[in-house]
Amino acid sequence: MSQSDTLFEQASQYIPGGVNSPVRAFKGVGGTPIFFKQAEGAYLWDEDDKRYIDYVGSWGPMILGHAAPAVIEAIRDQLTHGTGYGAPSSTETAMARKICEMVPSVDMVRMTNSGTEATMSAVRLARGYTGRDRILKFEGNYHGHVDSLLVKAGSGALTLGQPNSPGIPKALAEQTLTATFNDLESVETIFQEYGSEIAGIIVEPVAGNMNCVPPVAGFLEGLREICDRHGSVLIFDEVMSGFRVAPGGAQERYGVTPDLTALGKIIGGGLPVGALGGRRDIMSHLAPLGPVYQAGTLSGNPLAMRAGLATLEGLSQPGFHDQLEQRTRKLMDGFAAIADKHGIPLKVQGAGGMFGLFFTDQPEVTRFEHVVNCDTERFGRFFHAMLEQGVYLAPAAFEAGFVSGAHTEADIEATLQAADKAMAQL
Ligand code: PMP
Repeated sequence: MSQSDTLFEQASQYIPGGVNSPVRAFKGVGGTPIFFKQAEGAYLWDEDDKRYIDYVGSWGPMILGHAAPAVIEAIRDQLTHGTGYGAPSSTETAMARKICEMVPSVDMVRMTNSGTEATMSAVRLARGYTGRDRILKFEGNYHGHVDSLLVKAGSGALTLGQPNSPGIPKALAEQTLTATFNDLESVETIFQEYGSEIAGIIVEPVAGNMNCVPPVAGFLEGLREICDRHGSVLIFDEVMSGFRVAPGGAQERYGVTPDLTALGKIIGGGLPVGALGGRRDIMSHLAPLGPVYQAGTLSGNPLAMRAGLATLEGLSQPGFHDQLEQRTRKLMDGFAAIADKHGIPLKVQGAGGMFGLFFTDQPEVTRFEHVVNCDTERFGRFFHAMLEQGVYLAPAAFEAGFVSGAHTEADIEATLQAADKAMAQL
């Protein structure tokens, strides 16, 4: 019995399902979750001292690699000044200014403690600003466990077969309309009926919770145009894509400007964080400037601000994203070539430092229906064959993979060698 088996048994006595976030439980791939005790650069070490090349990166934040020296140093320095004040500090302004400089559409920012809080606040602000109640989201997009947004959701909700959770009042869920990602017509149809009642559209501009599905040409532009025509707010959920698919996120990469943006993950450098930013006139509706209430005891926590700032400074270095994209591309091309060699139908796609593997012979994977038609059982076998060889992929077929600046050419090579052996067994 491994240490992880023992620890999981103990955890399961005290924590529902043994985990603090469902997708960690390996339900999508079977087996026992691995318990880790150490992380550095591109690697994780489990409780049995086995080393893994990590493509989860704490689900996105670790874009510089684990325990990046500049991040650890920033946290250490802040610790000597205390862990939080519950009052303004200059690190919050430094963080807000950096986000405003980097993300094209953002004039003002409010920090939160998670991505969920960021999207929840974005939806409330869109409703408060427009005086409308309905929200449009896309099937398979995941925006955290917000009541209004846990409707036809992706990620762990999808893996566990609970895209609509019990416990969400019907009256609230009815205000959430769902369309098909990458299908503008499905959006038009809904707007034709409900346009004047829709406060906003919320979208993952690069979907990363139904595996990784980039937007097709014209899709994001079309959402912008529909929102303009109907006076609805366009919200990009860049909790995952922000600072990862380009320095300024998907809005920079695809040149489409949302009204509001939800952020998280990377801006906390591995500490709990989220943020909501956008147009000055809309952001001015937030309390205490305006009437839309939003708050947080630990919001803008200086430890998280320092870790996040160090991360943003690290990824702002010239050439960082070019190298990240090049390494990710090498990994993706390698996976595709190996699958081809073994006669295994595999589609690989991604953007910037995000990628997705789809075991399927469908000609394209651009929509939710394509994603759910992939062979998740085969993914599970591939996952375990990789795990065995010391490569840690996300433990579910509906999650995107993440490469960091700490992954070397040698790490990519080693991963592809493992994939060669893994695919030989499929
Ligand atoms: N939005 C997106 C696009 C996400 O990927 C996630 C989390 N994976 C969230 C929101 C929720 O963020 P958090 O888990 O920090 O609440």
